[in-house]
Amino acid sequence: MADEFNAEQKRYLEGFASGIAAARMTGGLAIGQGAAAAAPAEPTGPDAIHIKAQERTVKAGGKLCDQEKWKRAENPFDGHNRLKAEAAAGKHPKPEDNFRWRYHGMFWVAPNQVSYMCRIRVPNGILQHWQFAGIADLADAHGGGYSHVTTRAGLQVREIAPEHAQPFLDGLTDLGLTAQGAGADNIRNVTGSPAAGIDARELLDTRPLTKSWHNWILNDRSLYGLPRKFNVSFDGGGVTPALEETNDIGFQAIEVLEGAAVAPGVWMRLVLGGISGHKDLARDTGIVLKPEDCNRVADAIIRVFIENGDRTNRNKARMKYVLDAWGFDKYIAAVEEKLGRKLDRVDAAHVAPRRPTDRFSHVGVHPQVQPGLNWVGVVLPVGKMTTDQMRGLAKVAAECGDGQIRMTVWQNFIFSGVPDAKVAEVEARVEALGLTIKAAGIRSGLVACTGARGCKFAASDTKGHAMIIADHVERTVPALDVPVNVHLTGCHHSCAQHYIGDIGLIGAKVVVSEEGDTVEGYDIVVGGGFAENPKIGTEIWKAVKAEDAPARVEALLNAYLALRESKDESFQ
Ligand code: SF4
Repeated sequence: MADEFNAEQKRYLEGFASGIAAARMTGGLAIGQGAAAAAPAEPTGPDAIHIKAQERTVKAGGKLCDQEKWKRAENPFDGHNRLKAEAAAGKHPKPEDNFRWRYHGMFWVAPNQVSYMCRIRVPNGILQHWQFAGIADLADAHGGGYSHVTTRAGLQVREIAPEHAQPFLDGLTDLGLTAQGAGADNIRNVTGSPAAGIDARELLDTRPLTKSWHNWILNDRSLYGLPRKFNVSFDGGGVTPALEETNDIGFQAIEVLEGAAVAPGVWMRLVLGGISGHKDLARDTGIVLKPEDCNRVADAIIRVFIENGDRTNRNKARMKYVLDAWGFDKYIAAVEEKLGRKLDRVDAAHVAPRRPTDRFSHVGVHPQVQPGLNWVGVVLPVGKMTTDQMRGLAKVAAECGDGQIRMTVWQNFIFSGVPDAKVAEVEARVEALGLTIKAAGIRSGLVACTGARGCKFAASDTKGHAMIIADHVERTVPALDVPVNVHLTGCHHSCAQHYIGDIGLIGAKVVVSEEGDTVEGYDIVVGGGFAENPKIGTEIWKAVKAEDAPARVEALLNAYLALRESKDESFQ
């Protein structure tokens, strides 16, 4: 072994050479020759792509970050039986086991809550009514009796005690659901257009694509354990956006016009590198795909990332940083080499402009493409529902709609397939459950991450402050007659995507005394956007105390109302 390696690097390389660690990583599939093997074995099997990437990192003098060491010491899937046994005994997980549990969708969130949170995968955000009610029952039996819709159109259940972790996951399996790969360095819940298949203005139904991608990634172990988390989204070009530009890979349905290098019609445009918390929206690659090719191309893109992503520095480990270092041309060339073919390209001049979205389309009543049917969007205050509300809502979906509940990235949901004659009943039953379908200027686009009540990274109580801001604005700016999106995120991880809100607030500790005492507060950005108006917002205020935030939002809204020339002029 070369002398230039330090002691730690040597230990890791010796692990590779012996094959012992690699055998664990592959579940003993292909390499387990043990320490007695005469020659270093070449890792094979589903984990080999990761092992080789780690090995290259170490050989190049890089120091693997803790998470890479944890993956290497015990693959989280191979460790599941141990994790289950320890949780059943009530044991709190060590940091490395907290990381491993996240491969199974369970997040230990102490000290904010001394319990697990489970993030459930819901491809395209669509659940059947019985699944929705079933999750409510699981949240009662094993969790805190409530759930949150996430900003990836999934559901989270919190306050799950250690001994309830596996029973909760088993309950999901009974409902035909899974949380596998919902956390850690894995490909997260796939999002799609919420009104897919029912929106008269869409170009393409994203549901078959999201379901197909969901199954593609769940069943391939080599697609777990990336250098960092990874997001994929499919937008059908309809009235309710999927926010695909905030994803590592976004597929956008577009209309290619006559005269392009490919046949005219609906294609999927490939955009790459979205990570709004790092102030980047996904950029157009110029590549267009047939919808049926999306999985294979996304798979190749991810494998290039697996092989070349940074495994030493978590802050630089997202795909964006490989794209920044290489440029798009080099990255796409590597993808094409993996695919063994060139991808089709279309210049922007031969693509029809994106059809306008409607910021109120996920709230209230909207006619479907199917005559006589409607979708009905329900406002959920910062995404939270009690289990009683969930069971009541599931009954509404079953008795008044097509039985589906479609969650959106705006942390609310829509009922689909509601006949004209049932719309009034839906509204009344939703009101009886303490919720509303009425689109209000501020609440329809109010998004907040978990915040200080449940996340150790949070500098502020985002969900609590979001509600205070909404109450304040409804009282003080009654003239607000257009939707304005307000996003509150608790830290730089940007789970609530504050940079794409009309008004974005990111948690900050505000120093209030010479001794360094702090209170909760926010930095404030304005002017972000998405869909046909994608934009990263601009910071205008730093370190605003949380108690002053409602008045600042009020001032911004009043300025907008005073300065706009007409209602058609958006806040952005
Ligand atoms: Fe936690 Fe930060 Fe994500 Fe909010 S943005 S949920 S504080 S990690």
